Amino acid sequence: MNPTDCERIKQQLLRMYHDLDRRREILAGAIQQHETPPGEHERRVVPSLSIESDLRAEMAEDTIAAQIAEALDRIADGTYGTCRACGQAIPRQRLEALPYATCCVDCEAWSETV
Ligand SMILES: [Zn+2]
Repeated sequence: MNPTDCERIKQQLLRMYHDLDRRREILAGAIQQHETPPGEHERRVVPSLSIESDLRAEMAEDTIAAQIAEALDRIADGTYGTCRACGQAIPRQRLEALPYATCCVDCEAWSETV
């Protein structure tokens, strides 16, 4: 992974992180709205998503946000692009598709079956 690629991926990760953050704010707002007693926000549009799916989406996004933060850390310390489980290089195509991947396909498949 050359410095140009690293920088490009870093920018991509930062952008993803930013987008996620904004979505999380919107979600958090939607959840808060559900928790507000009826009548106080009558004029607001009620989100069509159920509260459970909002919460699930928020949890999934927390996980992704944590992975993005980890990937950024790994870029900073120079370990980006190696699997954190087996230490092998993560294939380039995988990083292109999933820039915040922290393990290779094999290790991830393994961890998902456990
Ligand atoms: Zn691995």
